[in-house]
Amino acid sequence: MGLPNIVAMDGPAASGKSTVAKILADRWGYLYFDTGVMYRAITWVALERGFSVEDEANVTALAETVSIDVNSPSIDDGRDYDVLADGKDVTWEIRRPEVDQNVSVVAAYPGVRKALTTQQRRIGLRGDVIMVGRDIGTVVLPEADLKVFLVASVEERARRRYLQRLDRGEDVEYPPILQGMKKRDKIDSTRDVAPLRAAEDAVIIDSDQMTIEEVVQKIETIARKKRYHD
Ligand code: C5P
Repeated sequence: MGLPNIVAMDGPAASGKSTVAKILADRWGYLYFDTGVMYRAITWVALERGFSVEDEANVTALAETVSIDVNSPSIDDGRDYDVLADGKDVTWEIRRPEVDQNVSVVAAYPGVRKALTTQQRRIGLRGDVIMVGRDIGTVVLPEADLKVFLVASVEERARRRYLQRLDRGEDVEYPPILQGMKKRDKIDSTRDVAPLRAAEDAVIIDSDQMTIEEVVQKIETIARKKRYHD
């Protein structure tokens, strides 16, 4: 029976998908690939170069030319991987609030999505991979053997993000995080190209009342029950 060769894990911000995918990938010896970092890296480069994120032509040109690499962690500072944009380490920069605030605008541009989706698909088709994002099961890898769509209420997700930031020693407040998350959800789920939604054949898991380990267990059980083609 074996394990699914390609796993698509989608869901809104802070639904727990990255944490769950990382644990499963480590257990199974799979590649864990978080596609959000690519949209974040382009957003960061645009901001750093002083582009307005409203400038679709310039931002799209960046997505077509900036080389984004995701490698094993080179520093032991809590990171799961290194993210490089044109060779520069931007692993933590892409988690900054200004990236959170602008990334959904960048990710809604069709040209940006086309450029990044092509790269993601190439990586995903190699197999033994858990790919995380918003449109993996619907657009990037519709042939995935297992599709999981993780949900949780926006209040719970904002609470998780708030605690995460506090934990990192940042000076944060809950209300703006909740507002920002609602805004990002809206842009991500109403955009014309590849909106956030569950694939028809996705397993939907609501993690509001579940611990991370419970979610991991549930996916493992589903993954091991199913039969997959070689
Ligand atoms: O998952 P994360 O919160 O890091 O993603 C950041 C943003 O990148 C999302 O809010 C969304 O706008 C965009 N994204 C996307 N498609 C993906 C992954 C991320 O549009 N596959």
